Amino acid sequence: MQIAFDNSYARLPSRFFAPLAPTPVADPAMIALNAPLAEALGLDPEALRRPDGVAMLAGNRVPDGATPLAQAYAGHQFGGWVPQLGDGRAILLGEILDRTGQRRDIQLKGSGPTPFSRRGDGRAALGPVLREYIVSEAMHAFGIPTTRALAAVLTGEPVQRERALPGAVLTRVASSHIRVGTFQFFAARGDEEALKALAGHVIARHYPEADTPLDLLTAVVARQARLIAQWMGVGFIHGVMNTDNMSVAGETIDYGPCAFMDGYHPDTVFSSIDRMGRYAYRKQPEIAVWNLAQFATALLPIMGMSHKDAVAVATRAVEGFADLFGTAWEAVFAAKLGLADLDEDDGGLAYDLLMRMAKGRADFTRTFRALSGADPTAAREEFVDPATLDAWLPRWQARLTAKGADASVRRARMSAANPAFIPRNHRVEEAIAAGLTGDFAPFHRLTEVLSRPFDDQPEAADLTLAPTPDQEVRQTFCGT
Ligand code: AMP
Ligand code: MG
Repeated sequence: MQIAFDNSYARLPSRFFAPLAPTPVADPAMIALNAPLAEALGLDPEALRRPDGVAMLAGNRVPDGATPLAQAYAGHQFGGWVPQLGDGRAILLGEILDRTGQRRDIQLKGSGPTPFSRRGDGRAALGPVLREYIVSEAMHAFGIPTTRALAAVLTGEPVQRERALPGAVLTRVASSHIRVGTFQFFAARGDEEALKALAGHVIARHYPEADTPLDLLTAVVARQARLIAQWMGVGFIHGVMNTDNMSVAGETIDYGPCAFMDGYHPDTVFSSIDRMGRYAYRKQPEIAVWNLAQFATALLPIMGMSHKDAVAVATRAVEGFADLFGTAWEAVFAAKLGLADLDEDDGGLAYDLLMRMAKGRADFTRTFRALSGADPTAAREEFVDPATLDAWLPRWQARLTAKGADASVRRARMSAANPAFIPRNHRVEEAIAAGLTGDFAPFHRLTEVLSRPFDDQPEAADLTLAPTPDQEVRQTFCGT
């Protein structure tokens, strides 16, 4: 199998990364290959399934043309500065141009120790690999920018966590793996030359319309504003929005203890390590601003103006997030309500609904999906007290009428904006638990159903159900 690599990151100065190959594993076995993604990348799924392909996806064979390396980066973790992080359990094999000419990173995650591993073993347990596969592919199916999952393979080796678990490797595909923390790494070292090279690389790769570092900042702010609004629209909680987990390409990256809300509440937190609720659902926009301020700070030295002027323009660019996010959020929630837009006359229609949902502990996904149906009053059943919705429904109906959204337009809009299926935590956990016993059928079923999340799939009706109290998952773990 010939892969036409073109490794632009590897051509950056040597202090950007540590060159090294993945560490081979005992007994690679394919769990899942994402054939549509392979095809979009111009790779042959059948070749990837053959022993040579599996060996590559496990890190046992470095393909011709690859320049395997671990990327250096730094970052703020839960607000605390860490001057050196880097790929501790991931290796970038290289980049390829996909069928549309877009440059994509091919990275192995869980591929062995690197100079950035600190005390970690460089490996990934099966559970987090399956979780990232399921959730990142679901995000893609929702139309939300994200890294992708090309494959998951078992290593045939145990990894030691609280207990011994099967090891696995995820092949991750991304527009790039360059993070806010990549810029911070060089800014913290006063390395302006590297910052300039990195900014030039990112501009050429992701923002060709940008001319200056300030343009780059402005463009990244805009992409993040849109991304976070889209997360909010599906009830997604990233869980670890550290600056090293924020992609400058504007894709969702680093699925750790992430989760989707079942019952709506803005303060929802799942991650076991997020004790202060720093990364709660409703805090995601303000945390994005915090991270973007760190990005801006890293760019100041190369803005080509006095520090004072640079601070002034960078601050303005970051402050632009609020309006961009507001506009994007309104567009997302307008679509969820079947409206072309939300204007002033709608007077907090969406907020009002969300407040009622929080009060009525209504399931986020099921409520919006029920509102999308032929009989929207079915959504009442999602509330502890169905009457909670009664005053809202006629207001919404009046707005739909005022805006001329007839029933078929409304339903079409809403069914394309409100998924029937999300990767519910209890279903993800169920798929992982089965996988740990060697049964990947629930995993395959979940990924298959979630590849068409907006389609009613009557045979998968069980996957639309909210968890019963004893099924509910209240905490998630990185598992790294
Ligand atoms: P994350 O929590 O996934 O964003 O990772 C934070 C940092 O810890 C990154 O530098 C990772 O590469 C590193 N890391 C996480 N898990 C491991 C592991 N099992 N072995 C080595 N490094 C790891
Ligand atoms: Mg990370």
